[in-house]
Amino acid sequence: MTARLDEKLELIYQDVLHRNPGENEFHQAVHEVLETLGPVLVKYPEFAEKKIIQRICEPERQIIFRVPWQDDKGEIHINRAFRVEFNSALGPYKGGMRFHPSVYLGIIKFLGFEQIFKNALTGLPIGGGKGGSDFDPKGRSDDEIMRFCQSLMTELYRHIGEYTDVPAGDIGVGGREIGYMFGQYKRITNRYESGVLTGKGLDWGGSRARTEATGYGTVFFTHEMLKARGDSMEGKKVVVSGSGNVAIYAIAKAHELGAKVIACSDSSGIIVDEKGLDLAALKQIKEVDRRRLSAYTEFHKDAKYVKGGSIWSIPCDIALPCATQNELNANDAKTLVENGCIAVAEGANMPTTPEGIAIFQQAKIMYGPGKAANAGGVATSALEMQQNASRDSWSFDYTQKRLEDIMIDIHKSCYETSAEFGSEGNYVLGANVTGFIKVARAMQSMGVI
Ligand code: NDP
Repeated sequence: MTARLDEKLELIYQDVLHRNPGENEFHQAVHEVLETLGPVLVKYPEFAEKKIIQRICEPERQIIFRVPWQDDKGEIHINRAFRVEFNSALGPYKGGMRFHPSVYLGIIKFLGFEQIFKNALTGLPIGGGKGGSDFDPKGRSDDEIMRFCQSLMTELYRHIGEYTDVPAGDIGVGGREIGYMFGQYKRITNRYESGVLTGKGLDWGGSRARTEATGYGTVFFTHEMLKARGDSMEGKKVVVSGSGNVAIYAIAKAHELGAKVIACSDSSGIIVDEKGLDLAALKQIKEVDRRRLSAYTEFHKDAKYVKGGSIWSIPCDIALPCATQNELNANDAKTLVENGCIAVAEGANMPTTPEGIAIFQQAKIMYGPGKAANAGGVATSALEMQQNASRDSWSFDYTQKRLEDIMIDIHKSCYETSAEFGSEGNYVLGANVTGFIKVARAMQSMGVI
């Protein structure tokens, strides 16, 4: 970790390390928030007195369970799944499910912890939670995915509900997986409870613009950072990591706002297309055919595919990390700054290492942390819950406008908080402190629970 904590916060951090051994990503996420809370405790000593920070760092509930399932050949596999219900001071737990072989409790806890503050920033009534499994969906047939999702929901159903805990998608979990999980939930409970999951299909309770929301929202946030400095997306050269749900719709919105996205990636390699990436080709490869990104060169012979390597060595004005945690380290940050990058906004959760963040902050380039910049996804999930509760269905344009307004508000409140606490333009401080104060006030009102 880069920054030092003041004495009180260091003690809290040491306790978190002691109580949660081996959970490095969770430690990193907690440290990053604690680094910014010193001035808050000076202004609001009652939060320290009521041990709000210690309580926020301890999940309200953690569920770990076995998921047995059979592959197409009849072989039995056993995966492990998690749901961490972190904080419900502002509403039912809300956060996605991640299916990736790297998933373990420390990853789900870091994601759940970040989700508390992100959800608070949206201004909508949602608490923070997250879940997932070490299941690897790559190369699995539709039937195998279905059997896995059904087995997972056979346990998860008893812990979730529209007023309790509302999962959605994340890495490895999109509309198909949400469909299989919803079907099993409905079958077991005999209830058509639309509000129990978000990211549903448009024909059965899903919200328009939810698929696009995280990527679009990240670009709306980037645009606001630029506008605050009298600039815009127009004519900017952009590099986006990843080529999944968040990356694809960040590319789409960046193009719409007049920027040119020249590169994206997956875990195997990088595509560089100096003409600007072809969105239709990307969607065909990733959403329809579910193939590897290298297939892009079949559509554009002049595009370059680089196996491995760092996407951050490609010179750009704006970098949008949209793949996974800790994908952008100090060396990458240095390279970006040296190559003239002026803004970084995180579509992914915690993609920049603490050392990388320090380099962006020292160089005084615009840096929008995931908690703020990718909050559009969960915000639109909360809009899906609103539509489900009122049995309504909003148009794409109306929903997108709500999303844009939410991102403008998040940017404004982060910026104003950063100025109020003497660090104008520091969106890390702005996001952490704004989110924390909202949750802390609600917890304080509800007593020691
Ligand atoms: P997807 O599964 O749709 O796409 C993930 C992309 O990231 C893929 O291109 C994948 O490549 C790449 N990737 C994943 N893990 C790694 C890795 N270890 N190394 C390199 N590349 C990797 O996920 P999403 O687009 O939904 O999520 C991307 C990020 O955005 C995550 O951090 C997620 O937490 C965050 N996020 C998502 C939200 C949503 O609404 N979906 C909301 C807010 C944040 P490959 O196919 O090769 O694995």
